[in-house]
Amino acid sequence: MTHEEIRESLAAYALDAVDEDARRTVETHLQACSECAAEVEALRGAAAALAAGVPVVAPPPGLRAQVLAAVRGERTTTRVPRIWIAGLAAAAGLIIALAGLSFSLSRELAAQRAQLAAQEQLVAMVGRPSARAITLQGTVEGNVRFVYDPQSRQGMLVVTRLRDPGRGLVYQLWLVAGQTPESAGVFRPAPDRPVLLPVTADFGRYGAVAISVERAPVGAPRPTSAPVLSSSL
Ligand SMILES: [Zn+2]
Repeated sequence: MTHEEIRESLAAYALDAVDEDARRTVETHLQACSECAAEVEALRGAAAALAAGVPVVAPPPGLRAQVLAAVRGERTTTRVPRIWIAGLAAAAGLIIALAGLSFSLSRELAAQRAQLAAQEQLVAMVGRPSARAITLQGTVEGNVRFVYDPQSRQGMLVVTRLRDPGRGLVYQLWLVAGQTPESAGVFRPAPDRPVLLPVTADFGRYGAVAISVERAPVGAPRPTSAPVLSSSL
């Protein structure tokens, strides 16, 4: 099979929805093709993230007992064949997974578009003579810079390396005016790409930027802990 043909079966492969032969074919290709390997990783991540958020639909009352009885080989009023139950369960699982996948893919696409727009904005901003860049430093290791242009009031936090804040937590960016921190958004670092967080503000009002660890998904109205990274503006 060609790279293009393999690509089309990656989603099914990532969901364990291919037969044994196809699985071997894909796996052989993955060893030689980093592009497809990366795609499988992304698909699995998306599916897993989605699976965690997929609402569980309760089966109609009686179905569970009936199915269990049928699996045990007991006679039930409807006599559902075992093979049919297995097929039905697999199909239901696949439909849920695919619905989740297409949802997460569209979300992924929107995220990619936002990332592209942010990259373009960053490139445009860095090209201006009035733009400045500072590096945030503190108690966590990372490569976190804040690029901003006081004239156009555009800024961008650029995170190229920073450890995960931990389960249920996010990093929150603050612009500090005097003693008052104002939230400028939350983010989670990504292992495989830079994270860009656009900020629009009148930077003349602020003396510092800081990042603290707060609760996911939206952060806090005020910092609940000391900043892990900061810099004066
Ligand atoms: Zn490939």
